Amino acid sequence: MELHQGELFPDDRAPWEIDAANETPSASVVFPEAPYGPYDYRIPDELAGIVQPAMRVVVPLGKGNREIVGYVLSIQMAMVPQSSLKPILRTVDHEPLCNGSLLQLIQWMSRYYLVPLGQVFEAVIPAGVRAGAGTRNQTLLRPSELASEERAVTALPTKQRQTLQQLILADEPLSIEQLKHLAQCSDGVIKKLRDIGLIESYTERVMTFDASTVPGNFERIPAPALSADQRLALQTIFQSIESGEHSTILLHGVTGSGKTEVYMQAIEQVVSYGRQAIVLVPEISLTPQTRSRFQHRFQSVAVLHSSMSGPERHYQWRRIADGHAQVIIGPRSAIFAPAPYLGLVILDEEHENTFKQETVPRYHARDVAIHRTALEKIPLVLGSATPSLETFHRARRGQFRMVSLPRRILNRPLPEVTTIDLRSTRIDVNRGSLSRPLLQAIERTLAEKGQTILLLNRRGYATSIQCPSCGHVVSCPDCDLPLTHHRDGSKATCHYCDYTIAAPNVCPKCGFDAIRFAGLGTQKLEMEVQARFPDAVIARMDSDTMKKPGSHERVLAEFRGGKVQILLGTQMIAKGLDFPNVLLVGVINADTTLHFPDFRASEKTFQLVTQVAGRTGRGDRAGEVLVQTYSPDHPAIVAACKHDYKMFSSQELKQREEFGYPPFSSLARIIFRGPDQVEANEFAEGVVKKIQLEIARVGAKIRVLGPAPPPIAKLRGHYRFHAMLISQDAAALNALLSRIQSSTKPPGENLYLIDIDPQDML
Ligand code: ADP
Ligand code: ZN
Repeated sequence: MELHQGELFPDDRAPWEIDAANETPSASVVFPEAPYGPYDYRIPDELAGIVQPAMRVVVPLGKGNREIVGYVLSIQMAMVPQSSLKPILRTVDHEPLCNGSLLQLIQWMSRYYLVPLGQVFEAVIPAGVRAGAGTRNQTLLRPSELASEERAVTALPTKQRQTLQQLILADEPLSIEQLKHLAQCSDGVIKKLRDIGLIESYTERVMTFDASTVPGNFERIPAPALSADQRLALQTIFQSIESGEHSTILLHGVTGSGKTEVYMQAIEQVVSYGRQAIVLVPEISLTPQTRSRFQHRFQSVAVLHSSMSGPERHYQWRRIADGHAQVIIGPRSAIFAPAPYLGLVILDEEHENTFKQETVPRYHARDVAIHRTALEKIPLVLGSATPSLETFHRARRGQFRMVSLPRRILNRPLPEVTTIDLRSTRIDVNRGSLSRPLLQAIERTLAEKGQTILLLNRRGYATSIQCPSCGHVVSCPDCDLPLTHHRDGSKATCHYCDYTIAAPNVCPKCGFDAIRFAGLGTQKLEMEVQARFPDAVIARMDSDTMKKPGSHERVLAEFRGGKVQILLGTQMIAKGLDFPNVLLVGVINADTTLHFPDFRASEKTFQLVTQVAGRTGRGDRAGEVLVQTYSPDHPAIVAACKHDYKMFSSQELKQREEFGYPPFSSLARIIFRGPDQVEANEFAEGVVKKIQLEIARVGAKIRVLGPAPPPIAKLRGHYRFHAMLISQDAAALNALLSRIQSSTKPPGENLYLIDIDPQDML
């Protein structure tokens, strides 16, 4: 698309020579469809005082003056003749879509993540709000100024006079229907009054969403008395709240130490001052219990999430913006909740990957939260049993405050964790995936009427389909990655693009008729466990069984109610669940995440094993954890088994420092892709060369790795290459990438994207 700067004709005079009357209010406008800008537009007289920052407006763009919607970024007085700027044509919104601090946050995100402002706006303002979902235009009537002149009224025919008097008496604008009803008049009477200018009409958007469909009025459950550790943690948070300054507090509390209770009492304090709090959770559908705990403690909780309808989301957004919602709970995007009286932000399970958005803008809610709370001068609490090393490092260096809950509530012990060395217990496995000690533990738990959680971080039935005769692996034609066998309907599916075929019985390459379905997925595990324990009720939780909305809630309710004895699934069962009757946790293969080509592989493994282990022993009875692994001596697994965060973090931070990885540096990843392998590679090489020249030119200390094919070298028919940029100077890295971005145009069908602080290395 071609763009032209709002045609500004500089004139010959110095600014002070220009008559003050020529000062024109103008607005800087950005467009979601256009990567450049902002562009300045004149605010015409009829829109003066109406156009405000963060409103959408329609303006003419380019040579053809195409009408386009943009967001107003700021308003200023321009020292230019009236005629030199194109005018704003009309407004789209009646009021700003967000307040000043959110507007500043949007600008920061655009600079930091190198994403055009218009696109950041679209990410921050939900689609339902932009579309005005659940609202309609209503025409409202009010008496005009003329109607206050007695002469004009008394001269009217009776019916018209009575109708006008009804409207004056109502003392508030009425809809046409309302006035017709009150005055018992016809449309014609109202039309006549409008025609002669005694009644004015205007339109307003009104909400039509039926708020009674949103569950409310939960029974209030009083707060328990806090433990000594909880009291201490809360005091620190109170101090920060009262200081009127921003600070970030890491609440490092072992699983089951009562972090949520601390959050709730901190929020109670903030709410008592008439302010609002945002609680960010890794995935709202996985944490119905967190939501319900808040709903039982606060009068007005607004929940935001993506499976909500547009009208409901819009309704909640308004409720928050009007200051009515005390607590806002939601996943990462809830950090953009338009709370005008924000007093506190909590980010629970701060180590979770889901806080990073993997589509444009690729922001991390933790970093956005740090920035927003700094702008608002309020505290931010980051909670976790296994803090990310980025966060822990900053706490260690004194950038964040740190408070600890080192013990579980009621001094319940952390569960005993035992590793089962799969190298030596292989013989026991008896062609299955459950070792004898794990089988016996499940049996014992069933006999004791306890519940079991089994973690396997791979969905599907078999994770590869390979011919034992020729070695051929059945792969996705678009991604070149092995297909996963799914038993239901006997399908073979690509987990990256969803390409699906009927699972072959014979090798597609050599025709050998005993193709092997190898590797273990949750589906196969479920069948195996069911075969071993035919009387047990088993539930499986992975993204295949949890497609329908509400399925998490249903399965978790069944598990809580004791109907299900064994819950097995992918990492979604490792998060945040608090079930007192879980006596056993089994990790089927702790190595699935360990050998990933990612510098965070150890950290992810440590977090996953520690978190899932934390699901047991939360009631009166002690819990037990069995971890099957081929790497029982790996430091991450050893530390997880001892619940020893200190041990893990100190050895891992040492390694990161040695290799210069985050948190000791800033990282950016550039991903290139295109339909032609050679061309995509050439494009990547060219950009990296340009980067290297630029680094040399400005003398920046930036290390460049690549370009090279990433682990997923082909995706949806596109070949991929990536490069990593590592530097201790985040500002220099940002400046460099910004220059590269503005001077790089991918040839043909090639594309590239920049991922700042990447989490995903695939
Ligand atoms: P975490 O978030 O640290 O894993 P939770 O906040 O879920 O821990 O607390 C674990 C359990 O302990 C919950 O069932 C919670 O209701 C309970 N709990 C928390 N604080 C207290 C307290 N002070 N007294 C009694 N029970 C508590
Ligand atoms: Zn694929």
